[in-house]
Amino acid sequence: MANNNKLNNQQNILIIGAGLCGSLLALRLGQRGFHVTVYEMRPDLRKTDISAGRSINLAFSNRGNKAMKLVGLEDKVKELCIPMNGRMIHDKEGNTFMSNYSGRDYEYINSISRGELNSLLLTEAEKHENVTIHFNKKCKSVDFENTTALFQDYNTKDEFVEDADCIIATDGAGSALRKSYYLGKKFLFSFSQEYLNHGYKELSILPTETGNYKTYKNALHIWPRSSFMLIALPNLDGSFTVTLFLSYAEGEYNFNNLTTPELVIEFFQKEFPDALAIMPNLVDDFFENPTAALGTVKCSPWHYKGNTLLMGDSAHAIVPFYGQGMNASFEDVVEFDKVLDQNLDSWEAIFETYEKNRKKDTDAIADLAIDNFHEMKGHVANPIFQEKRKIEMALEKEFQNKYSSKYSLVTFNENIGYRQAMLQGRAQDKAILNMLTDKVISSEDNLKDILDKVNAETEAILEDDRIAGLY
Ligand code: FAD
Repeated sequence: MANNNKLNNQQNILIIGAGLCGSLLALRLGQRGFHVTVYEMRPDLRKTDISAGRSINLAFSNRGNKAMKLVGLEDKVKELCIPMNGRMIHDKEGNTFMSNYSGRDYEYINSISRGELNSLLLTEAEKHENVTIHFNKKCKSVDFENTTALFQDYNTKDEFVEDADCIIATDGAGSALRKSYYLGKKFLFSFSQEYLNHGYKELSILPTETGNYKTYKNALHIWPRSSFMLIALPNLDGSFTVTLFLSYAEGEYNFNNLTTPELVIEFFQKEFPDALAIMPNLVDDFFENPTAALGTVKCSPWHYKGNTLLMGDSAHAIVPFYGQGMNASFEDVVEFDKVLDQNLDSWEAIFETYEKNRKKDTDAIADLAIDNFHEMKGHVANPIFQEKRKIEMALEKEFQNKYSSKYSLVTFNENIGYRQAMLQGRAQDKAILNMLTDKVISSEDNLKDILDKVNAETEAILEDDRIAGLY
C-alpha cells in the first residue's frame, strides 16, 4: 500500500491498542468513514475471562462524557455509572464525614467498570463495517519512516508487518511506538518517565450475602493517612474495588515489609480498622494481587511527520490521583476530532495542530495529578484544608455561575482546557489558603464579601504569575 500523506477518508488508519482510548478512536474514525484496522495484544475481553488490566473501576467525569456525547453513547454509558457525590473520609477511629465534590448538586463523578466500558466501545466500533479489530496481536516495533508496524501473533508466534496511510498508537504507558521513537534516534525525541515511591495494590470489599453494599454506595471512600492511603470505589454488583497506595520501602509499613498475613492484618487493624471489619478477604486479596508502580510519562513530539502519532497514555501517562487519565485520553479523541473538522490537507498538518493544541493541557493534568496525590493522602484530613473546602462549597452553592473551585474547574468544566483550569485553580487555592492563614476570611463571614476578597486576591496572584513569566 502506498503511503500517501494527503488526507482523505478513504485512507487506511492503523491503530495499535484497543484499550479505552484506542477503541473510542476506532469508533470515531469509523463514524467519519475512515478504513480503520486495530491490533490489540490481549484477547477480546468480551469473550475471555480476563481482567481489563489495571484498575477494575475508574472515576468517569465530564471530559470523558463529552467524548461519549460525540460518539452518541452518553445514555448507554450512563447505565454503567454509579454517581459518587463526594469523598467520604474515614479517620483512624472509624468516624466518617462526607466532603462533596461540588456545591452544585448536578456536579458529581461516577464509578465505572473499565471492562464494561471498554467492551461497549469495542462493540460500537465493530458495528461499522469499515472498522476491523484483531486481538492477540502484539506490536513489537514501528518503522515510523515507512509507516509500517511489526506484530506477533500470541498463539502462533508468527510475525507479520502491516502498513497503513498513518499509524496511531494508543497502546498505553509502555507504548511500542514511543519505544521505537526513542530507540530509532532518527529525530529529536524528548522523553521523561518519573515514578512515585508509592505503588498500588487492588483489594476488595465484597457485597453482603443479599447483594447489598457494605458501606455507603455513592461516594469515593478515602482513608487518608498522610504518607499512604486507601480508597474504595463502588461497583454495580454491590462490591467495592479498594486500592491501597503505599510506599515500596519507606515508613513503618510498606510493600516490601508487609510479607505475612499477620503483618497485613496488624497494619489494617492499626490504620484502617473500619475497612478491615468489612474485608474478611483482605489477606487473600493482598497476597494474590500484584503490586504495581505509578508514574508520569511526558514526551515530545508525539508525531513523526504525517506517518505516526501517539495518543492517550502512550503520549501522556499520569498518576491516577485526579481520576483524569482515562478522561484525558477520551478528551484527546474529542480534540483530535476538532482538528479533523478543520479540513487540513495532510496528516502532518493534522498531527502538528493536534499536538500544539493539546500538549499544554496534558502536561497540566500530569502536574495536577501529582498535586492531588498529596492532597488526597494528607491535606483532606487537615483542618485548614477542610475550612477551605467548606468555603469553596458555600461559594459554589451561592454563586452557581460565578465560582468554581480548582477541583470543579478540572473535573466539571469541560469547556476549558486543563491548563487554564490549573492556572486559575492554583491561584484560587493560594488566595483562600493565604487569607485563611492570615485570618482575613473565615467560613463565618458574609459569602459575598468572601467572594470579592477571593476574586481580588486571585487576580493579584495571577498578575504576579504573569509578571514573573510563569505563563
Ligand atoms: P490503556 O487503557 O492502557 O490501553 C492500552 C491498550 O493497548 C491495552 O488494551 C493494551 O493491552 C494494548 N497494548 C499495549 N501494548 C500493546 C502492544 N505492544 N501491541 C498491541 N496492543 C498493546 N483514569 C481516570 O480517568 N479515572 C480514574 O479513576 C483512573 N484510575 C486509575 C487507577 C489506576 C490504579 C491506574 C493505573 C490508572 C487509572 N486511570 C484513571 C488512568 C487510566 O487507566 C488510563 O489513563 C487509561 O486507561 C488510558 O487509556 P489508553 O487507552 O491510553 O491506555
